[in-house]
Amino acid sequence: MPVDVDEPAAPGDPARSGVRDECGVFAVFAPGEDVAKLCYYGLYALQHRGQESAGIAVSDGRNILVTKEMGLVNQVFDEARLASLEGHIGVAHVRYSTTGSSTWDNAQPAFKVTPSGSGLALAHNGNLVNTTDLARRLGPEGEKCATDSALMATLLARDADVAPMDTPRTDTPLTDTPLADAMVSTCTQLQGAFSLVAMDETTVVAARDTHGVRPLVIGRLPRGGYVIASETAALDIVGAHLLRDVDPGEVVIIDERGLRSRRFADATPHGCLFEYVYVARPDHRTAETTVYAARRRMGMALAGEAPIDADLVIPVPDSGTAGASGYAEAAGIPYAEGLTKNRYVGRTFIQPTQSLRELGIRLKLNPLRDVIEGQRLVVVDDSIVRGNTSRQLVAMLRDAGAAQVHLRITAPPITDPCFYGIDMATRAELIGSDLSVEQICDFVGADTLAYLSLDALVATTKRPKSQLCRACFDGEYPIPVPGEQLTGGKDVLLRMRA
Ligand code: SF4
Repeated sequence: MPVDVDEPAAPGDPARSGVRDECGVFAVFAPGEDVAKLCYYGLYALQHRGQESAGIAVSDGRNILVTKEMGLVNQVFDEARLASLEGHIGVAHVRYSTTGSSTWDNAQPAFKVTPSGSGLALAHNGNLVNTTDLARRLGPEGEKCATDSALMATLLARDADVAPMDTPRTDTPLTDTPLADAMVSTCTQLQGAFSLVAMDETTVVAARDTHGVRPLVIGRLPRGGYVIASETAALDIVGAHLLRDVDPGEVVIIDERGLRSRRFADATPHGCLFEYVYVARPDHRTAETTVYAARRRMGMALAGEAPIDADLVIPVPDSGTAGASGYAEAAGIPYAEGLTKNRYVGRTFIQPTQSLRELGIRLKLNPLRDVIEGQRLVVVDDSIVRGNTSRQLVAMLRDAGAAQVHLRITAPPITDPCFYGIDMATRAELIGSDLSVEQICDFVGADTLAYLSLDALVATTKRPKSQLCRACFDGEYPIPVPGEQLTGGKDVLLRMRA
């Protein structure tokens, strides 16, 4: 469902940049394999997590080559370009971003050269909440960083250069490569959500924040070698089998000695609940469930909580599809595809401006009149953010002859913004932040509207409530967010724009 973007960054000010990436990361260590192609296919499976830019960095053990461009994975890379990327180590990234930060400079992997001449490439999914502090600590170099990913790469390059002698330390013994030690040191300085992959000429490292907000998994390739990815679908596409998650608070190091693990802090897990609702692909697997099965359970629970007398259940494709099939089965109402989706139009979620977003909605969905005409519809969707899309959708269905439109949402109302990497909207823009369900129903023009309860949603994930971030639904932020971010800049910018 549509989630809008915020205003552009003030250049050089990461704290106010509004850069809130929801991205996909991928890394490979696989001597003897065509690593560039593995990265390409991995990014292909993660394309839904970012469609504005794509990049791959590879190393042959001596040099790092980075290629990144604005555009989709298959627009950025062709056979010739991939053939030029020779090496046995790679990190790769797909990105979506906010207006103004959507530039080649901010595309990833970010690349740095340490003062001693070693290269370093980094790809990040998440969002830091202490960028102001980090930038200050880095001095003039930090001031130049336009994104939190650039800040992290700068920190890592600095720490890799001085490791193992005089960096801030945990009590972990320093017995590893400079990059591994630097990653441990860097992670202790970061606050917020980060699932990171990075490499120098010889080593791949991966790390996940202590809350494990964004997913990050490890896979093993059939002929040896390892893959790290944001979602399991990216392991499947390259034939890797899932070993496990990167644990919250863990740094994983992969080089010619194999895979080893270090900790930079104890885990306090708070995985993102919205990944289950919307962000992740349905075929993503967690330790407890697939996202598809969780979404089916959401629909079934919603049928129990909000039943209605109707003729047909239709999904808003694609993230509403599994929920709609679950609702239909539990309610005993026939299921049908009542909306055709143009699969070549990107998710409305990532459109960079309001005008494009609205155009995207009209381009993306088309009602099937012969399916819905005269029918009392249950329409299952994953979320309502501002309400504009749902309003257009209901009007479109009525124009196509629907007798009734009963909207069912497989999550609670979104009441609070996300500061951990999902670019939703400001609190003032979120329709769920100050309107009641009845008022929202009036606004979108549905006959009835019902949301899934938070407890029922949590239950579908098979994880304890205490191990999930649910802040956009209940305002309880597991990672403290600085006051100025909670109350300040974005709403001010919104008022200025209005
Ligand atoms: S605030 Fe919402 S979208 Fe952001 S990490 Fe938490 S659950 Fe996910």
